[in-house]
Amino acid sequence: MNAPQKTIMNANLFSRLFDGLDDPSRLAIETSDGQRISYGELMARAGQMANVLVSSGVRPGDRVAAQTEKSVPGLVLYLATVRAGAVYLPLNTAYTLNELEYFIADAEPSLVVCDPSKAEGIGAIAAKVGAGVETLDADGQGSLTQAAAVAKPEFETVARAGDDLAAILYTSGTTGRSKGAMLTHDNLASNSLALVDYWRFTDQDVLIHALPIYHTHGLFVASNVTLFARAAMIFLPKFDPDLIIRLMARATVLMGVPTFYTRLLQSPALTRESTRHMRLFVSGSAPLLADTHREWADRTGHAVLERYGMTETNMNTSNPYDGERVPGAVGHALPGVSVRVTDPDTGKTLGPETIGMIEVKGPNVFKGYWRMPEKTKVEFREDGFFITGDLGKIDANGYVHILGRGKDLVISGGFNVYPKEIESEIDAMPGVIESAVIGVPHADFGEGVTAVVVCGRDAGVDEASVLKALDGRLAKFKMPKRVIVVEELPRNAMGKVQKNILRDTYAKLYAK
Ligand code: AMP
Repeated sequence: MNAPQKTIMNANLFSRLFDGLDDPSRLAIETSDGQRISYGELMARAGQMANVLVSSGVRPGDRVAAQTEKSVPGLVLYLATVRAGAVYLPLNTAYTLNELEYFIADAEPSLVVCDPSKAEGIGAIAAKVGAGVETLDADGQGSLTQAAAVAKPEFETVARAGDDLAAILYTSGTTGRSKGAMLTHDNLASNSLALVDYWRFTDQDVLIHALPIYHTHGLFVASNVTLFARAAMIFLPKFDPDLIIRLMARATVLMGVPTFYTRLLQSPALTRESTRHMRLFVSGSAPLLADTHREWADRTGHAVLERYGMTETNMNTSNPYDGERVPGAVGHALPGVSVRVTDPDTGKTLGPETIGMIEVKGPNVFKGYWRMPEKTKVEFREDGFFITGDLGKIDANGYVHILGRGKDLVISGGFNVYPKEIESEIDAMPGVIESAVIGVPHADFGEGVTAVVVCGRDAGVDEASVLKALDGRLAKFKMPKRVIVVEELPRNAMGKVQKNILRDTYAKLYAK
């Protein structure tokens, strides 16, 4: 008797994105310099580049590392890598050679793609792990695109199981070494499909894509969601508020980090009229101030939809499309995703309105940290929940609220102080734009609660006025010991306030 034929389902993300393409002439990408790329052409370009990867020795399962400026060929490289069954490893363009050395040694890619100006330095690092080097510049020119231009567009997408790796994204790692989050084809496909549905994406949508593509937000949320929906994206090399406001006249969705929204609000051109054609504004990657949410709604008539995710888990929660989008909250768990709040010490699940550790489980959650089985083990509970490191609570209406990273918790005189609570009080003061509360070493209290505050020009806000405003509103142990007024808070490219930098800057504030 013949053995039963084993059918191999191809779960490759590329197949899921492009198989069954019914209208290859449909627009996929438009660039600010007037290029228009259809779905059929995007697929052909990915085929050409996949052929180049294979002829450079990239095999299924190999890592392809890329440190390139944002460009359409950069996005094609991601699609081609996945199509060839390899693992895409994007690297923040800000990383120095010294930092790249760690990533390349850790990931051992078989190919590294970089800007021509860095080819020599990266070449020396890549050689140590036997990796080849190809170049790609900000205009999409380089050895990689030269080779792709003459390669054939036909390419048989390499079959992959859902559990195989599609990408490794290194976490930003503000403490210790950054870790490579291993994301599978199923992780990426399931999350994008959930978002297409939840955010009502259709082939009529036009997304303004102004995020970097080395991070989960711009690479997966923005690009995969658009492609799954057969929508179009206007692909911008960087954030340009004036251009974005002009594009809103013919776009439907903007995905941004909170700084996009605060900077767009600075333009008088942002009005109800200029946003009339838009149907959705999404914010994530860092907390959107409740004030920004309200100001945006007043000015445009649109409620920004805030969602919460991370490199390791893709997107976990989102405010509803139809229901109330609550300022300062990140919404409900996405369909298929479970979110709970636990006691950080015992792991016991906590009830509504109680602050604890946010844990998530679902098809969106990554497979583990690359070559760090021990680290992976301690970040998961036995029942499969991932311990996010974010502190938060679920309110009585089921909305999740993030109160900050666990490592940003301040412990003063033995009491837990949640920075967000104090920041919200300070931010509500007239004249204050934003604030960051940190713990700074203090001989008597262990850590001294310290507020770093940004205020409007001539707002007359100083240490004494902040302390006076907080007096009686906060328990004594939560009161800042010092308030420092600064011009701006340090942020990374994703708009996250870098509290580690603030802690270093003020490390000696209470030194005797
Ligand atoms: P990353 O891995 O760089 O995407 O960073 C993930 C972290 O960003 C999360 O663990 C949260 O601390 C933070 N984050 C993402 N989205 C939000 C949000 N909407 N509100 C507050 N924090 C957020």
